[in-house]
Amino acid sequence: MDWTQSLKETSKEPARPARCRRVVDQLASEFSHALIAVLLGKAYARTATPWRFWGLTILCSILPDADVVGFFFGIKYGDLLGHRGLTHSLCFALTLAMVIVWFAFKDVVRFSRAWWILSIQFFLVTASHGFLDAMTNGGLGVAFFSPFDTTRYFLPWRPLTVPPIELTLFFGPMGLAAVVSEFVWIWIPALVVLVGLAVHRKMTLRI
Ligand SMILES: [Zn+2]
Repeated sequence: MDWTQSLKETSKEPARPARCRRVVDQLASEFSHALIAVLLGKAYARTATPWRFWGLTILCSILPDADVVGFFFGIKYGDLLGHRGLTHSLCFALTLAMVIVWFAFKDVVRFSRAWWILSIQFFLVTASHGFLDAMTNGGLGVAFFSPFDTTRYFLPWRPLTVPPIELTLFFGPMGLAAVVSEFVWIWIPALVVLVGLAVHRKMTLRI
């Protein structure tokens, strides 16, 4: 299968029209984005880490969805600044990571090895948001290469169910299916890895 083709947006589902619906659509998975960010943070942080590291880690993981504000200003889903557009791109992730590390971690010598590693960490945390979104089965894909290429993409594997957009449906079987899919495909594996990391570190300390 052609990789590029398989990555491209393949959803038959039309983009969702109502503004409030889209906001509801987002809220369900922010916890999952934050959990993956904490997981990446745990893999990075081998020593005691300041609270600002964790606060900014979670912020970076959910900030891409700030683009939903655009719906209230008439920005369309598929626009450059639309949902899953520029703020979900790798370019945005890189820029945000550099800004965060530049201003929030002045104690780390700029452009040192530690500084670059910290920047890559925040890049990965922010970029993870787009990849998680690209594993969902609805809406439009993610503009990973925006602003240079605004094509929307999905990953070839999309096990995550997008929550129903109407609130009445959200608290029904469809909403439950979405929560279950996130629990099965994100929460359980992430918690297993987190426990594994903790056990591994404890054993390493004993040796
Ligand atoms: Zn998103």
